Amino acid sequence: MKTVAEIDKLVPDMKAWRHYIHAHPETAFEESSTSAFVADKLRSFGLDVHTGLATTGLVGVLRSGSGKAAIGLRADLDALHIHEKTGVAHASTVAGKMHACGHDGHTAMLLGAAAALARNKGFDGTLYFIFQPAEENEGGGRVMVEQGLFERFPMRAVYGMHNWPLLPEGTFAMRVGPLMGAFDIFEIVATGKGAHAAMPNTGKDPMLFAAHAIGALQTIVARNLHPLDAGVVSVTQVHGGDTWNVIPQEVVLRGTVRTFNAAVQDLIERRMREIVAGAAAMFDMSATVRYERRYPATVNAKEETQHAIAAATAVVGAANVDTDPQPNMGSEDFAFMLQAKPGCYVWLGAGRGPETPNVHNPHYDFNDDVLAIGASYWVTLARQQLAA
Ligand SMILES: [Zn+2]
Ligand SMILES: [Zn+2]
Repeated sequence: MKTVAEIDKLVPDMKAWRHYIHAHPETAFEESSTSAFVADKLRSFGLDVHTGLATTGLVGVLRSGSGKAAIGLRADLDALHIHEKTGVAHASTVAGKMHACGHDGHTAMLLGAAAALARNKGFDGTLYFIFQPAEENEGGGRVMVEQGLFERFPMRAVYGMHNWPLLPEGTFAMRVGPLMGAFDIFEIVATGKGAHAAMPNTGKDPMLFAAHAIGALQTIVARNLHPLDAGVVSVTQVHGGDTWNVIPQEVVLRGTVRTFNAAVQDLIERRMREIVAGAAAMFDMSATVRYERRYPATVNAKEETQHAIAAATAVVGAANVDTDPQPNMGSEDFAFMLQAKPGCYVWLGAGRGPETPNVHNPHYDFNDDVLAIGASYWVTLARQQLAA
């Protein structure tokens, strides 16, 4: 392990910042005090700070030398709607909200890197420190891109990092191509004809539609996808009926689809529409499908992944960098930045063994022992990519 010496000195600061942010969680597009906290810190390090991107997002700009090259390093600011159960001293002070995904740690590590690079530079060019809101569900990264992030702050590449409790601390993992899945949602509404349950012949029962459609939707992955392609179709909600003796008029099914490539995504949506139309016809009723593509797959570029591997290797050694991990069907809105710019998203190992709570668990807390590793990765990547 070779963490950067300047970063080692900043560990108590990063811990304090992380604990403060953790105790004061804010959710999507409402991260105003977190954003103000970050802006304050960046200004105190001497960076130019641009606020108000995607409401609560901000960018810190740090220049050194006369080089024209520029890269972006990105962290996320938002917390989740989860009631914290960790019992730690810095636990959430807001009922029903907590930093259960470690974005408090991501923010603290990028602040630590900004502090170290502002003090001792060691690079030639421009660094953009991107702090985005609303990573969870609401696509703050997309909004930043739409609001001209890359036009206002021109850069050749953008990099992201997420702590990953499923991997041991002291490791990194990244790969060329997709690392996280695309996240789509769907809602299916079947409309039959309500009736007395003792006289089913006088109605059209949407419950039968639901029973058949849920089973048939599972055949998309089992029977339509190439066996070596990956896809998930999960029906996660069934709503219909209120009492024992009434056949309801309507049943609603909702769920999510996960994929790694657009062709598979197109195939699943098309087959879903065909199956729903077919099941509705079978039971003589109508059904609609609302299919929404939320986040695309997170796809790493070839060259930038090599750069990320080089930086991670310098910090934790080649034996601790997995360059071909199995991708995960979770999703990440950094994907929108990677659609606009080449870059690389990496997992920072944060596990302390099989009992470590995973992200989005009410017992999860960011692992402070990886603050120095993650921040050292940022500093190393910046200095390697913008070599003085
Ligand atoms: Zn999350
Ligand atoms: Zn997250």
